[in-house]
Amino acid sequence: MIITKTPTEIELMRESALIVSKTLGMLAPHIKPGITTLDLDKMAEEFIRDHGAEPGFLGMYDFPNSLCMSPNAQVVHGIPNDKPLQEGDIISIDCGALKNGFYGDHAYTFEVGEVKQEIKDLLKATKESLYVGIREFKAGNRVGDVGYAIQKYTEDRGYGVVRELVGHGLGATMHEDPEMPNYGKRGRGKKFVEGMVVAIEPMINLGTKRIKQLPDGWTILTADNKASAHFEHDVALVDGKPQLLSTFDYIYEALGIESDEEDEFKAKAHDKEL
Ligand code: MG
Ligand code: MG
Repeated sequence: MIITKTPTEIELMRESALIVSKTLGMLAPHIKPGITTLDLDKMAEEFIRDHGAEPGFLGMYDFPNSLCMSPNAQVVHGIPNDKPLQEGDIISIDCGALKNGFYGDHAYTFEVGEVKQEIKDLLKATKESLYVGIREFKAGNRVGDVGYAIQKYTEDRGYGVVRELVGHGLGATMHEDPEMPNYGKRGRGKKFVEGMVVAIEPMINLGTKRIKQLPDGWTILTADNKASAHFEHDVALVDGKPQLLSTFDYIYEALGIESDEEDEFKAKAHDKEL
């Protein structure tokens, strides 16, 4: 059952999403060779609590940490550890926050130092596919339209689209209806309606789309051990159009990156006061 949100609830969800955005922005300058994913996890947990929220993932389905930390060939659900990041790594960080009874849930794949061009290309295409998908989250469209757009954009470039893990509706629980696959057929699936909030999150592999799981019961990685990227935004359907609740602006500000990629999906200038 799809649970639509009122305008007031959407504003509360924006608050939760922006706590996650700010957390990722806070972490961004620290993501360098030598730091461990456990260090970053501790910083994130403290930051989230300092902002009056609870870490969204900690304890959910018994997950042991606040952040999912998935380096290189890991797709999602990696567990933070004390192994230092190295020059040339990539690290997908997925973060959740719970405030006022609503979850924020978004993710970004960071470069650690200088990474290979083929990896940069994968990150660029995965992030672009997120926006290609978001553009289809509009009145009259269906779940399959978003999935089709993401799949077409990434497969045309030779990448593998993970099938087993999907985006989702978001609200008072982390995973609501509908499931939002990153593949699909145009015009199929549930119809989008005003007040829906979804997390759209392409998980795109450099090589095969196939995945495997580590014995820890959590970590998902590519079957061929080639790199995987993950970008996720929280999006509300307002006035028939997709409106971003989360933003990568805090990351870009921290890293000195100029970007207007989110402009078409913004409601208004986000409050930058922490
Ligand atoms: Mg997530
Ligand atoms: Mg999600």
